[in-house]
Parts: sequence; structure tokens; C-alpha cells
Amino acid sequence: MNFKYVIVGAGLSGLTMAERIANVLQEKVLVIEKRNHIGGNVYDSYNEDGILIHNYGPHIFHTNSQSVYQYLSQFTQWNDFWHRVLTYVDGNLIPMPITVETINKLYNLNLDCSQVEDFLKKQAVEIDEVTTSKEVALSKVGPDIYSKIFENYTKKQWGIDPAELDTSVISRIPIRLNRDTRYFADRYQGMPKFGYTKMCEKMAANKNIKIMLNTDYKEVIGDISYEKLIYTGPADDYYDYKYGRLSYRSIHFAFETYDKETFQEAPVVNYPNDYDYTRITEFKKLTWQEHRKTTICKEFPCAEGEPYYPFPTKDCKAQFALYAEEMKKESKVIFLGRLAEYKYYNMDAAVKRALDVFEQMQKAAQN
Ligand code: FAD
Ligand code: UDP
Repeated sequence: MNFKYVIVGAGLSGLTMAERIANVLQEKVLVIEKRNHIGGNVYDSYNEDGILIHNYGPHIFHTNSQSVYQYLSQFTQWNDFWHRVLTYVDGNLIPMPITVETINKLYNLNLDCSQVEDFLKKQAVEIDEVTTSKEVALSKVGPDIYSKIFENYTKKQWGIDPAELDTSVISRIPIRLNRDTRYFADRYQGMPKFGYTKMCEKMAANKNIKIMLNTDYKEVIGDISYEKLIYTGPADDYYDYKYGRLSYRSIHFAFETYDKETFQEAPVVNYPNDYDYTRITEFKKLTWQEHRKTTICKEFPCAEGEPYYPFPTKDCKAQFALYAEEMKKESKVIFLGRLAEYKYYNMDAAVKRALDVFEQMQKAAQN
């Protein structure tokens, strides 16, 4: 087989590259995917009761990038969805992220915005140089809120103490000195009107794109000649684990369907201090599907299983750096995406990165 471009992985990173190569360069591209579907972790499907679920956990699109929003809007319309999360603390459901409402509910107070600012200043611990996720939380909200909201959730999610995780993890959660209880404050937010899989199918709908499912690229790559390989699988797997296995956090997703219309008050409810799961998602509250039953998903973080979250610790980054050095030597291979770059990319960042890399590749080809 002869393809100028071969892509490993049909997730958002791989599909964005495939779409650009097929539509802009008008070149043939082969996408090899080991799962039995496209979309990678954003894949959604209808379960046996006919309810649309996110098979790999809740996915909510949000971005400040106009170019990413416009790019994906070619392949989907959006439901104007603003995500909301509640967290179960001391027997109450309180809004996440931390806002004026959260503080008032947590401590049974009635403070206004500037009073909450003063309140948090008094709680916050002064730290000269913030280098860990624990310090991020302590320096912003102090030890009590840290222990109620962040400490145990993070230990469950990552299996290690927040003091071992770099600042990027807990920094994902904003502290807002206002009453904006949306989970994300980005300019563009939404859910693909007909689901992520439909959006991905449209991205791949080009006669120049051939997709080979149920195939580990290593089984076939020796029989294919190509000029460029775009690899979006795990970095360590590409190099046959020569520097050891990189750590990823996995999740067991437990789906349950109930014979009632509604299960919980918000699309996602977090459980920092109770149960072995971190959060429960109720899909109908994300997708706005109408159905007399409802399906939920409990997330049980675990060490073994599909690689979902790269580990933002010093040791893991150092180990990845060994692979990154090897990658620099490859002239025919581009490494892209959450797994290959070992980065905690959101969907918009994965698409943005793929669009940027495509442009670089195009420029390099012109020179
Ligand atoms: P992936 O989706 O992982 O795609 C990589 C593909 O490569 C996979 O399909 C895999 O099967 C394939 N592959 C791997 N090895 C091989 C091989 N040897 N041969 C062939 N194929 C191979 N982002 C948001 O913006 N909002 C959210 O709400 C959000 N929620 C998330 C919740 C969870 C639980 C997780 C895990 C992620 C979430 N994300 C969210 C992040 C989002 O899933 C990623 O940004 C996105 O999926 C990255 O796409 P990717 O193509 O880089 O990787
Ligand atoms: N987090 C927490 N308590 C919460 C929600 C999040 O401590 O109620 C921390 C946790 O470490 C988590 C990180 O913040 O991994 C990022 O949360 P986010 O909701 O962005 O996680 P994701 O959707 O990426 O799993």
C-alpha cells in the first residue's frame, strides 16, 4: 500500500490532521485506529435504551479560540450549553468552581463579592513560590477549603498527594470572586447538536480519507510506504517502552440506567470526600435528549486500563523528556496529541495544536 500520509489514531488530533490533508492538500491519507470506532475519547453512542452517552466520560466543549470554534463549526451545529457542576461537601450540594455562592453555602454566610475576597485572603496561606497543585489551592483558598474540596478529590483522581502534582492540575479550576457559577468561563461553549461522533464522521467524510479500524498500526505499518507518519498514540508504545512505561491515570466508567426521567440536580456532581468514584454525570443533562429513562456514569479512577490522563509530576515529565529527545531525531514522523505529547490537552487545545502543526507541515513542504 502506498499513501503519502499515514495517521495513527482517529481521535480529534488525528482527524483534524486527516481533514486538513484531505481538503486543503487534496492528498490521500490513511488513518489507522486500533479501536472499533473513530473519535478517540470524544466518541459518543446510543446505549441499549437509546440514550446518548459519552463512552469515555463527560466531554464538554469550551474554548476562547475563535479559530478552533469556527473550524469545528464546519462539522457541527451546537447546542448553546453552559456547563454546571455541583460538589457534595458536608452533606450539601454546592456550586463548583469556587464562587461567592460556593463560599456562602459552604459556611452558611451571606457575603458579597468584596467580602468573599477578604474572606479568602484571610484563609489563604502565603507561599513564596508556588510549585505544586497543593500549593496552588492553599495559596488561593487556604487549608479548610483545600481539605473539603480539593485534597481528597485529587487523591482519588490521581492516586497521589496533590503536593506531588505540578501546578497545572488544580490550576484548571478557577476561583471566582463573583456569582458566575458556570464551570467554564470561555467565550465559546457548547455541545455538538447531534453528538461528537457525528461531528467526527463529518470531519472524516472525504474520499481522500481512508480509515482502517480495529488495527494496531504496528501490525500493518511495515506493509505501507509513506512520506509522513502522524502519530497520535502513546509515546512509550511507539518506542517499545525503551525508557520504561509512562504512567497514565485511567478511569473505569460505570454506566447505570434508571427508570426515571431525572437522577440528579446538575449535569455533573462531584464527590470529593465520599465514595470511591470522583463524579457522576447524567448524560441527558448534557445532551438535552428527552427520554423517560436516564443514564448516569460514575468515574472510578485507577492505575491500570486505557491511558487517559498523562501524569503531571516531575518524575513522569523527566521520563517523557527521554522519549521527546528521540522524537526530535525523527524526520518522517510527527508526534501529536494527548498521548504522543504526554500533555493534558482539552479538546480545543488538541484541535488547535493539530491545526498549527498542519500549517507548519504545509510551510515546510513549500520551502
Ligand atoms: P485520543 O482521543 O486519545 O485519540 C488517540 C487515538 O489513538 C485513540 O483512538 C487510540 O485508540 C488510538 N491509538 C492509540 N494507539 C494506537 C495504535 N497503536 N494503533 C492505532 N491506533 C492507536 N476535553 C475537553 O475539552 N472537555 C472535556 O469535558 C473533556 N473531558 C474529558 C474527560 C475524560 C474522562 C478524558 C479522559 C478526557 C477529557 N477531555 C476533555 C480531553 C479530550 O478527550 C482530549 O483532548 C481529546 O480526546 C484528545 O484527542 P487525541 O486525538 O489527542 O487523543
Ligand atoms: N478537582 C478537585 N475537586 C473538584 C474538581 C476538580 O480537586 O471538585 C481537581 C482534581 O485534581 C482534578 C483537577 O482539579 O483532576 C481538574 O479538574 P477537571 O474538572 O478539569 O478534571 P477533568 O475533567 O480534566 O477530569
